[in-house]
Amino acid sequence: QLHRRIRPVGQTKVTADRDRSLLAANINDPADVAKALANGAQAIGLFRTEFLYLKAHQLPTEAEQFRAYKAVLTQMGEKPVIIRTADIGGDKQETTGAFDDQMNPYLGLRGLRLSLTHQSIFRTQLRALLRASAYGKLSIMFPMVTTLHELRVAKALLDQERIKLLSEGVAIGRLKVGMMVEVPVVAIMADQFVNDVDFMSLGTNDLTQYLLAADRGNEQVADLYQPENPAIFRLVKSVIDACHDHQIPAFMCGELAADPLAIPILKGMGLDGFSMNPAAISYAKQLIDRLNTRRMVTLANEVVTMAADQKQVIDFVHQATANG
Ligand code: PEP
Ligand code: MG
Repeated sequence: QLHRRIRPVGQTKVTADRDRSLLAANINDPADVAKALANGAQAIGLFRTEFLYLKAHQLPTEAEQFRAYKAVLTQMGEKPVIIRTADIGGDKQETTGAFDDQMNPYLGLRGLRLSLTHQSIFRTQLRALLRASAYGKLSIMFPMVTTLHELRVAKALLDQERIKLLSEGVAIGRLKVGMMVEVPVVAIMADQFVNDVDFMSLGTNDLTQYLLAADRGNEQVADLYQPENPAIFRLVKSVIDACHDHQIPAFMCGELAADPLAIPILKGMGLDGFSMNPAAISYAKQLIDRLNTRRMVTLANEVVTMAADQKQVIDFVHQATANG
């Protein structure tokens, strides 16, 4: 009976604005921007900055980082760019030797946890981002946020660096601050975080592995790694609702955002932005343009009441969307 307590999707007002969905690109390197633009990206929804650490033998300097961030922002011009602070750890093992190995990397020091443990390295990245903010429409996003305290510490460090740079006479643009929603506790408690951020972005790759306790890279449990499980959709919906209740946008940058089966459901839930591999954008756009939002709202409402297996969702959406 749990679903009865879940507010129907239709209660989230579908506005004209909400009918338009931002289609954005996930990139790993400034060189990917050209591909993103060529594929019609309206924004960079996720710039994974780990590339600076993953092949390097030493930590990237502030100047190196600044160049990389500025390169992305200037290429994007007026279009928004979300740059995520380093999400090192888990599947993204760095090579600089600056951080300890973790016995259980997905559950250890990774992402923002690692940044807050190594604050001088984190401050360097924040300074590079702040400097770059003068060159475009920048949003900074924190990965793997687990507690409100972590988020507030990260924001305080950002403020401290902003004040220092301003006192040095450095130009800083207006920037937004957002967080990834990829740790289950944050998804469940999203309403407690919305006042502290300008936007949220759902990281369904990690959210799925943590919710189903199935390693995202382990083929032996691939059948349990179910991004289309109804539990994911329920949680995603509650995060979108929490964002909309506080008038902030809800984006998604996990693989689910590019999944043709999930797109109608997510659209029905009012997701504001879909960020994906550049190569997936044009198909997703065609699909979204074809969708009748009202029908998708009905579809989304059905999915959140389903039993905990993704096969039911898959069969249902196939059937419901078969006739266009
Ligand atoms: C995610 O977890 O869904 C995500 C977008 O981040 P990454 O894949 O980089 O962990
Ligand atoms: Mg992630």
